[in-house]
Amino acid sequence: MPKTTPKTTKQTAPQLSFDTLCIQGGYDPRVSEPRILPIVQSTTYRYDDIDHVNRIMTLQEFGHKYSRTSNPTVAGFEARMNLLEGGTAAVATASGQAANLLAIINIVRPGDHILAATQLYGGSFTLINSTLKKFGIEASFFEPDASRAEIEKLVRPETRLIFGETIGNPGLSILDFDKLASIAQKHGIPFVVDNSLATAYLCQPFKHGANIVTYSATKYIDGHATSIGGVVIDGGNFDWTNGKFPDFTTPDPTYNGVIYTDQFPQTAFVIKARSQFLRDFGGCLSPLNAFLFNLGLETLHLRLPRHGENALALANFLEQHPKVAWVNYPGLNTNGKKRIVKYFRHKNGSGILTFGIKGDLDSVRRFVKKLKVAALVVHVADARTGVLHPASSTHAQMNAEQLHAAGITPDMIRVSVGTEDIADLIADFDQALNA
Ligand SMILES: *Cc1c(COP(=O)(O)O)cnc(C)c1O
Repeated sequence: MPKTTPKTTKQTAPQLSFDTLCIQGGYDPRVSEPRILPIVQSTTYRYDDIDHVNRIMTLQEFGHKYSRTSNPTVAGFEARMNLLEGGTAAVATASGQAANLLAIINIVRPGDHILAATQLYGGSFTLINSTLKKFGIEASFFEPDASRAEIEKLVRPETRLIFGETIGNPGLSILDFDKLASIAQKHGIPFVVDNSLATAYLCQPFKHGANIVTYSATKYIDGHATSIGGVVIDGGNFDWTNGKFPDFTTPDPTYNGVIYTDQFPQTAFVIKARSQFLRDFGGCLSPLNAFLFNLGLETLHLRLPRHGENALALANFLEQHPKVAWVNYPGLNTNGKKRIVKYFRHKNGSGILTFGIKGDLDSVRRFVKKLKVAALVVHVADARTGVLHPASSTHAQMNAEQLHAAGITPDMIRVSVGTEDIADLIADFDQALNA
C-alpha cells in the first residue's frame, strides 16, 4: 500500500495524450505496489513526531491528516481529473451539489452577487436562486444567448462570479465561452463552468477562458449510475489579488495567518476550499466512490463517442417520426453545431437530447410507460438509456416563466442515450411512440 499518498509523477508528464491519462493519469505505483489505485479505507494517518503533524496542520507541508480534508484514494482521483481538465489542482466533494456550493462559497461573502445562466441543472438553480439568497448572497440570471450588452447590464459592483454550464441542462444550449469569459475578465471576476454533461473529453473550459470548473462526477465520470460525487478544479488562471477577494489575500487566522495567494500562488483556490470548507462544512468524497469514479474515467474516452453517436442517430430517427413534434440535440441545431466546432475537442455532442411528443400529457404518459429498453429515471449519463419528463420532475418547482427561461416545455422528454446497440434503442422508441 502507498505509505501516505499515491505518487503522482504522471502529473509531470503532460506529453501523454488525453486517452492515456484517462487510464493511467494521477497514479503511478512503485515496484510491487498495486497497479490499480487502492481503496485506502482509513480516516487516520500515523506520524512519528509532533513537528511533522504541526507542519501539516499549519499548511507548511502537504500530507494527509484526516480523511475529511484528504485521502490517498480521493487524491488519486483528484489528480486524474486535474490532468484531464488541464488545471492546477482539484478537490473532490460528496456530490455535484457540494462541488458547486464549495466553488461558490469559496468566492462569495454575504452581500455579494452572482450572475448565472438561466439554463441550469435544477439543483444549481435552487441553490443560487433560493438557498444562497437566505445567506445574503444575491443572484441575477441571464439567457445564455442574450447579447453581451444585456448580460453586462446585470453586472453590479458586488458581482463576484459568472456561472454557467457547458451544456445547459436540459435546454442543451452550449455555452458561448468567448462572450462570458470576456465579460468576466473585463469585470475582474472568475468564470465558473459546470462541465458535468460535456466532460473534458468533449470540452476543456480552461482553454476557453473558464477559471474554475465544477463537476457532478455522478454523471459521465461514473458513467454507470453507481455513486454520487463531485469535483472542483482550479484553472490557476485567475488573479485573486485584484482587490475584490480579500479572503484570498488577507491572513487566515484559522491556519496561523496563512495568506493563500502568497503561499500557494497557483493553487490558492483549491487549497483554500479544502482547508476552510471541507474542514468546516465536511462535504468530502468517500474513498470507495473515488475508486469507482477513477474506474469510470478509465473508459471515458471509449464511452463518450458511443453516447454521442447513439444520441445523434436517435435524434435523426426522432426527427423523421410522425408522432414527434420537435427534437433538440446540440449536434443538430445551428447554434449548437457552431459552438461544438468552436469549443469541443471532438465534434459530437454528449448523450443528452430532448424531444416533444405530439399530443397532450397523456401521450407523454403512455410513451414512457411503453418503453422497454429505456427506463424512466431521474438520472442522466448512465450507460443505460433513461428518459425523464423535466416539467413534472426535476424542474417541478419552477413557475411557467422560469420553465420557459430554462428552455423547458410541457411536452419535453429528456433522453439520456446510453451505450446499448442503437438498433435496439430505435426499435424501442418506435414501438413506444406508435403505441
Ligand atoms: C446532476 C448535476 C448536478 C448535481 O450533481 P449531484 O451529483 O447530483 O449532486 C449539478 N450540475 C449538473 C449539470 C448536473 O447534471
